[in-house]
Amino acid sequence: MKWKDAVLSLKPYQPGKSIQEVQKQYGLESITKLASNENPSGCSETVKEVISSFNESYAIYPDGYATMLRQAVSSYLGVKETELIFGNGTDEIIQVISRSLLTSNWNTVMATPSFSQYRHNAVIEGAEIREVELVGGAHNLPRMLEEIDENTAVVWLCTPNNPTGVYITEAELISFLKEVPKDVLVVIDEAYFEYVDAADYPDSTKLIETYKNIIVLRTFSKIYGLASLRVGYGVANEEIIQKLEPARAPFNTNTLAQLAAMTAISDQEFIAECKLENRKGLQQYYRFCEEEGLSYYPSQGNFILIDFQADGDEVFQFLLERGFIVRSGQALGFPTSVRVTVGSAEQNKGIIEIMKEYLASKKS
Ligand SMILES: *Cc1c(COP(=O)(O)O)cnc(C)c1O
Repeated sequence: MKWKDAVLSLKPYQPGKSIQEVQKQYGLESITKLASNENPSGCSETVKEVISSFNESYAIYPDGYATMLRQAVSSYLGVKETELIFGNGTDEIIQVISRSLLTSNWNTVMATPSFSQYRHNAVIEGAEIREVELVGGAHNLPRMLEEIDENTAVVWLCTPNNPTGVYITEAELISFLKEVPKDVLVVIDEAYFEYVDAADYPDSTKLIETYKNIIVLRTFSKIYGLASLRVGYGVANEEIIQKLEPARAPFNTNTLAQLAAMTAISDQEFIAECKLENRKGLQQYYRFCEEEGLSYYPSQGNFILIDFQADGDEVFQFLLERGFIVRSGQALGFPTSVRVTVGSAEQNKGIIEIMKEYLASKKS
């Protein structure tokens, strides 16, 4: 068959191991998954109530325009309804952007290591990929600017960056945007926006009128605790949204997901609590790293990348066999690290104990 060459070179996305998989393989009673940056508190109670009383017909297609969710997000963010696009997760928006702009004629600029889907979709579209190494876990924006030329179609920024947790400050972002040619789309992926508490972190959705070549991505999968329902969105100038809409599947977000997401955004008290819990959880890891002399990046997300100065797969395996699923840095471009999602206080305490056991086993 006449497959695209690019498709033949790719492997499917390797997700973090599932709890069921590990249970079966190791016969463990209790397993904690701290691998995919999910919210340990789940979603808000009001969302659970709405889901359990859901009573609409499964035979009817969803609202393809996500009208009610659109109204809710538009009024929450203070942007126009026409400045939003919804996706089956932010992953789908990344795909829609790539389909709409990337071809083998163009190049695309991104940081590395960063979120894998920018590269993955660019490969499928056959675009030239220009990757710029992080410095100290952060985007090297001056170097990224140098990589942009007349054939650049899309630039990807991930802030806070997955997997380092390091963010781009408002001043850095604005001086970057001022230099980027106006015909280059800058994607600002803010999947962890709601977790950030750095005072100099920008609200990029406020920049879409000034910079008409940016799109800001957010998701209901992380702090909102709705990863299984798949809802993400993009915020951009109307013209960008209009150009992207045809590449989106007609009924990409489902009825239950739309309802859950619009309810979730109305419970900001829950979000504030989760953010606070996450901050406290990060402190547990910082304390552990400092006691053990391990280096890490201070994180603005709900995860932390810890350098064990050992094979990340080995650390991963040690933790797995004792009931904790994390992400090995081997798969993330940091071969001697693991990425741990911040869990509940108790879960964090539990995994830290096992990490101490690992370190002790290395010393003896
Ligand atoms: C988790 C994540 C996403 C994907 O989110 P979905 O909405 O679940 O598709 C996008 N970008 C980054 C950086 C992420 O970490």
